[in-house]
Amino acid sequence: MEEWVHQLENRVNTLKKLKEFINVTPDEEKAIKSLKTRWGTTPYFASLMDPNDPKCPIRMQVVPSIKELENKYGMKDYLVWKENREEDRPDSIARQYHDRIAFTIVDECASYCRHCFRKEVVTDRRLKLRFDVEEGLEWIREHKEIRDVLMTGGDPFILSDDKIKYLVDSLREIPHIEMIRFHTRIPVTLPHRITPGLTKVMKGHHRVPIWVVIQCNHPKEITERVSKAVYDLLSCGINVGNQGVLLKGINDDVKTFRELHQKLLSIRVRPYYIFYCEPAPGIDHFRTPVEKGAELIRDAIRGHTSGLAQPMYVIATNIGKIPLMPDYYILEKNEKEYKLRNYEGKETTIPNIPE
Ligand SMILES: *Cc1c(COP(=O)(O)O)cnc(C)c1O
Ligand code: SF4
Repeated sequence: MEEWVHQLENRVNTLKKLKEFINVTPDEEKAIKSLKTRWGTTPYFASLMDPNDPKCPIRMQVVPSIKELENKYGMKDYLVWKENREEDRPDSIARQYHDRIAFTIVDECASYCRHCFRKEVVTDRRLKLRFDVEEGLEWIREHKEIRDVLMTGGDPFILSDDKIKYLVDSLREIPHIEMIRFHTRIPVTLPHRITPGLTKVMKGHHRVPIWVVIQCNHPKEITERVSKAVYDLLSCGINVGNQGVLLKGINDDVKTFRELHQKLLSIRVRPYYIFYCEPAPGIDHFRTPVEKGAELIRDAIRGHTSGLAQPMYVIATNIGKIPLMPDYYILEKNEKEYKLRNYEGKETTIPNIPE
């Protein structure tokens, strides 16, 4: 049996198994017993949890919390609103833009993130959607304006090599498709999945390139195994980026935020987005004020470290992603000049050139 399949078959998804990895607190135990939710992770990812610290950043993303029942701000049927599903399209196709779509191909993951904005479908499963791959492919074939297909889930890399090959080959045969993306957390939670069999399916120089976008939220998630998995993806011609989520108590401080982005570059992953934690139901406890992400880019990244380490801070909404980047840099503008401020608070001026 391949190691990744073994990891999935031994998923840590019962209280008994969890107790082999951590000293479960009474609150955690209560949440596990009372919440009707799909939860759990791989033994690999579970082994990164701190056994004695309930505030361990990995543990908070993996172990259910009773706070998931408190829902003051979350929007019901969030995904129906967010992904414009009331319009006449297959459930697998989420559309916010003219030239690209999110194609949901599976509703399972290797590790169930407690902060998942797709919680209603993926973990709590109150919202039933039909993810029919054939129907989705047919819709894509008929819509010639689509050039970029972003495959998501659940986690697309949970599928077998054969299924992934079928999807990649089918999409590459469509003349109007110019690029394919896989959005997956598996290189982080189950790096063993990046096998020679998988890379063989995706590798090579081709008219239609593949981009893999991972989700890494804390420097502790970046291990030697993850580094190797990323290297194996890059080595077969795949580009790798990161979309992190800004999570309260996990990565919303200057030190962690900077270290996360520096460490991503150290394993050759280019930070792409950092997301404001979306108003899906049951994840209020992970949400920061909106300004937080912009402040972190101002105080931890821009100017303080390599420009390549800087993600764009956005909120994903029903009308697309909206940048929430810091706007502290232009202090003043008059007919003659702009007054600008740098990351250290120093000021400079440049001429204002009329149009
Ligand atoms: C995020 C998303 C995309 C991709 O947006 P990019 O800014 O190109 O990464 C496309 N469609 C939907 C529905 C999305 O949610
Ligand atoms: S891997 Fe993605 S879809 Fe799965 S639980 Fe985490 S955030 Fe949700």
